[in-house]
Amino acid sequence: MVIAIDGPAGSGKSTVAREVARRLGFIYVDTGAMYRAVALLASRLGVPLTDSTALEQLASGTKMHFLPSGDRARLLVNNEDVTDSIRTAEISQGASIVSTVAGVRHALVAMQQGMGSDGNLVMEGRDIGTVVFPNAEVKVFLDASPEERARRRFAETPGRATIERVAAEIRERDARDEQREHSPLQRAPGSIVIDTTGLAIEQVIENILALAQKGRGSI
Ligand code: C5P
Repeated sequence: MVIAIDGPAGSGKSTVAREVARRLGFIYVDTGAMYRAVALLASRLGVPLTDSTALEQLASGTKMHFLPSGDRARLLVNNEDVTDSIRTAEISQGASIVSTVAGVRHALVAMQQGMGSDGNLVMEGRDIGTVVFPNAEVKVFLDASPEERARRRFAETPGRATIERVAAEIRERDARDEQREHSPLQRAPGSIVIDTTGLAIEQVIENILALAQKGRGSI
């Protein structure tokens, strides 16, 4: 079974997807981390984010895999653990730029589909229900008001700038993710939309577990 969870930054995807995977004993894959890893490598190697060909080569020539570890999977890129270094504001913006390149998406989507071949999985991102696993048994689109999403991101990164700055960064990323030509962020046909504004995490998790239960019954 595949549970596909899409939505914009700060919609609650990671927290919810991780916990749903833990409770079901499924593999958890954070595809945003993979786009972040390409941005990190590009920054280290001095590859301009405007050089689509070099970015595509970088994505297709990089080995990525997730290592289950406690409550958060670690991402290994060419055997280096980059889990912490990809969580900066600069890499967030870089990821949303590299993810506009069709060749980068193509390479990463192929890897993600490969990760699903071993069975049960919860995968979160922007195009899981539309492109990576359009036939997923459960498709969820999480959303929340822009104010709530900025508040959550700000709370996760104490000491960082101001909430206005975080809100502006999220707006910029949302616009790029929704308006790009290839696999823009959109609600997948057949997805269940959950607005998480004002909902407790537990409510969202239980909603998705109930959908998974139904999905299982229909197989
Ligand atoms: O989910 P996260 O905020 O870590 O994703 C970082 C960026 O990677 C997003 O803003 C988006 O541009 C890109 N992304 C994507 N497709 C995915 C996952 C992430 O384009 N499946």
